[in-house]
Amino acid sequence: MLEIYKRLPGTNCKKCGETSCMAFALKVKAVQRRISECPYMADTGEASSANEPVGSAEDSYSHVANEMEEEVRNTDLKGVAPAIGADFEVVDGVQCIRLALLNRPCELRKEGLFEGGEQCRDSWVKMIVYDYVRRKGGAPVTGDWVAFDHFPRTPSHIKAFQKTAEDELASAFDQDRASFEARLVQQGSTQEHGQIRADYSCRLDLLPRIPLLLRFWAADDEFPASCKLFVDSSANQYLDMEFLGHLVEKFVKGVTR
Ligand code: SF4
Repeated sequence: MLEIYKRLPGTNCKKCGETSCMAFALKVKAVQRRISECPYMADTGEASSANEPVGSAEDSYSHVANEMEEEVRNTDLKGVAPAIGADFEVVDGVQCIRLALLNRPCELRKEGLFEGGEQCRDSWVKMIVYDYVRRKGGAPVTGDWVAFDHFPRTPSHIKAFQKTAEDELASAFDQDRASFEARLVQQGSTQEHGQIRADYSCRLDLLPRIPLLLRFWAADDEFPASCKLFVDSSANQYLDMEFLGHLVEKFVKGVTR
C-alpha cells in the first residue's frame, strides 16, 4: 500500500472523492479503485492483487503504521542511528534505538515503539517516528529557516494549518506570556537571539534532526500579536510533509493546551 501512496501527489486535494491520498491508496490496494481515478495519475492498467478490507480511517492509519514498523524492523538501525541523531543499543540480541520526540523519550524495541516508557498506541506518532527512521537522514541540517510553503508539493491543508497554528500560538502567547514560555521550556526550547528582531524567539527540536524556530511579536498600537514558525530547509528530507504537519500540530497542542 505504501508503494501506491508514495506514487500519489500527496496533496490530499479530495478530487478522487476520498478524504486523503492515503485513503485512496488503501482502496487501490483493495482493488476498489484504480490508480487512474486520481486525475493526476496516468492509467497504467495495473491493479493490486491483494484483497484487503478497507475499514475506518483509524484502521487505515493503524494498517500503514504496521507496514512501516515492518519496514523499519528490516532496517539496519546501527547504520541509521547516527544519521538521525538517535542512540543505538542491542537488547537481547535485537537492535534498538532511542531518540527524543518533542523532548519525550521514544524507544524502538522489538515489541514496537515506546513513548515516555509506555507502549505507543497512537498510529500517527508511530508513522511519524517510523518515517523519520526509514528515511535514514542523509541530508545535513542547513541552518536555513523556511516556512512550509518553501517545500514543493506541500499539501494545501498543511500550509493552511501553519497559519492557524501561528495565530493560536500568538493568541496563547499574548494572554499569558510567562506560562507560555514555561511550557516551551518544558518542550526543550532554548531562547534565541537572532538577527531578526522579535519579542521572543526560541528553537526546539521536533525530532533530533528537525529543529523548529518560533518567533513571537507582541501586540502594539498598530498590529495584533503575531507568531511565525520555521523549520530547517532540510526538514522534508527527514519527514514526509504530511507527517511534519502532524508533528507541528502535536507541538502546538502541547503548548496551547
Ligand atoms: S485526487 Fe489524487 S491527489 Fe487528490 S486526494 Fe485523491 S489521490 Fe490524492
